[in-house]
Order: sequence, then C-alpha cells, then structure tokens
Amino acid sequence: MGSAAGPLRVLVDMDGVLADFEGAVLRGFLSRFPGEPRVELAERRGFSVWEQYRCLRRDLADKVASIYESPGFFLGLDPIPGAIEAMQEMILMQDTEVFICTSPLRKYEHCILEKYKWVEKHLGPEFVERIILTRDKTIVSADLLFDDKDTIRGVELNPSWEHILFTCCHNKHIQLKPPRRRLLSWADDWRAIMESKRRK
Ligand SMILES: [Mg+2]
Repeated sequence: MGSAAGPLRVLVDMDGVLADFEGAVLRGFLSRFPGEPRVELAERRGFSVWEQYRCLRRDLADKVASIYESPGFFLGLDPIPGAIEAMQEMILMQDTEVFICTSPLRKYEHCILEKYKWVEKHLGPEFVERIILTRDKTIVSADLLFDDKDTIRGVELNPSWEHILFTCCHNKHIQLKPPRRRLLSWADDWRAIMESKRRK
C-alpha cells in the first residue's frame, strides 16, 4: 500500500480527533437538561450519540441533537490533547501533505461556518486552505486517514487510504481485525504510522 511515488498524503478527521465533540455534547446536555438521564463518556458505545440517547429513551435523541445543533457548539469545542501540536508538526514535515477531512452535520447551518472558524482559531489560516468537507471520505485519495469513526463507508468500495482508528470514548471497546490499526491518542506514535506508509 501507499503511493508509488511522491509525498505522503494524510487526511485528519476533525470531530473526535482534533476537536472534542463528545466531551462538549455531554457538558452541554448536563447543563441544559440537568434532570434527564445521560450517557457518561465511559458508557458511550457506537459512533452516533443520537442513536445511543434514543435507545436510552426515545425523546432524548432530539434533546441531545439540540446540543450539537446549537449555534456556537462547534466553535466552542476544545482541542483534543496534543492535536494542535501534532498538526503543526505534521504540516512542516518533508514530503508530507496534510488535509483536514470532515463531514458536516446534515443540519449544517452553524456547523460548516463554525468548523472553518475553529480551524482558523486553533490551527491558523494555512489549515483553512486544507479543509475538505465531504459526506463521503471514500472518494478522497490519500495514503492515510486518521478518524474515530469505526466503519467508514461510501461509494468507493476500495478507498485509497488506510484508515487508522483514532481512539475515542465510543470506539475504545471495539476489537479491530488485523491488519487494522489504531492511534490511541496524539501521545501515541503517529509519526511511526506515517513513516510506515512512506515509499521505501
Ligand atoms: Mg470524527
């Protein structure tokens, strides 16, 4: 695998990898619906927080959605520890092309603008140039994709990238089948994963 020649191209997902979506959902839910049952981060299972709240009680799904659909939610997300430093290091690496590849919500009114603003605020204008917004990551060509979604599907059945599962509260219990790989956090050895994809 890996490109036959040329620079290493890396896609980095945003929510759950650069920006702490899950932490902010829980905090927002707690402050807006203090009396309602909630899903602690240690109890999160499955990519969709909406789905898990719906299973807890049907009407909680719309309540949790109202948190992440609120204006200011995406702009206010905290960076994932080490993410900003890793991206700043990655963009300076020789023979490396780094892009942020993120899927906006279907209710995109605030999400899209605020994602751009978040990137400018935390990473700077050079990364705004590197945002790829798509609901289908399989058609984007690259060597690597760091993403916390356990299963990434789309129209391309054989994506060009290797998906590295970025560990997040909702996926940490999943047992990956070899040769699939994880990055446990930005303190884990993302540099070694990148080097493993370079042309020998
Ligand atoms: Mg994500």
